[in-house]
Amino acid sequence: MAHLSREEAAGLLERFHRHLRDHRLPVTPQRTLIARVLFESDEHLSVEAIERRLKQMGARVGTATVYRTLDTLVESGLLRTHDFGEGFRRYEPVASSPQHEHLVCLRCGAVHEFQNDRLERMLPVIADEFHFQHQRHRIEIYGLCRDCRQRDLGGLLK
Ligand SMILES: [Zn+2]
Ligand SMILES: [Zn+2]
Repeated sequence: MAHLSREEAAGLLERFHRHLRDHRLPVTPQRTLIARVLFESDEHLSVEAIERRLKQMGARVGTATVYRTLDTLVESGLLRTHDFGEGFRRYEPVASSPQHEHLVCLRCGAVHEFQNDRLERMLPVIADEFHFQHQRHRIEIYGLCRDCRQRDLGGLLK
C-alpha cells in the first residue's frame, strides 16, 4: 500500500472517530492506536504484525480488542480485508488512491501493488459481454517475486 500522507492518515482517523460516535461506540485509546498502526503503515498488515507494532509502541491491547476494532474499521469502510490464501487475513486502509491490484509472492509472502488502466477499462467491458453490470473487482496475481526469482537464478536477473 502506498504510504499515506500525514494528512490522509489523520483524515481517516477523524472519519473513524466519527464512525464510532455515530454508532455510540466509545472512542478509546486502544481503538485509536490500532487504527493509527494501520493508517500509518505502508504494508498489508496481518493481525500478528499489528500486535507486534502495538507491542513495540509499548501498548497493551488484547487480541480480542484488535479483532473487534478491525471488524469495526472494515464496517466503517475505512479498511479493506485481503485473503491471499496464507491462512490469515491482511488489512489495508482504503485511501483515496486509485484502484490498485496485488501481486503476491507464494514463497516469501511479499505483496506488491500495481495499477493498469487498460485492465481497469477492460473489466467492465468483459462483464458487459455477460450482461453483467460491473461494480467492483479485485485481482490477485500469484507467483514468485523478483527477489525470490533472483535467489533461484543466482543473481542472473537484471
Ligand atoms: Zn494494496
Ligand atoms: Zn518472494
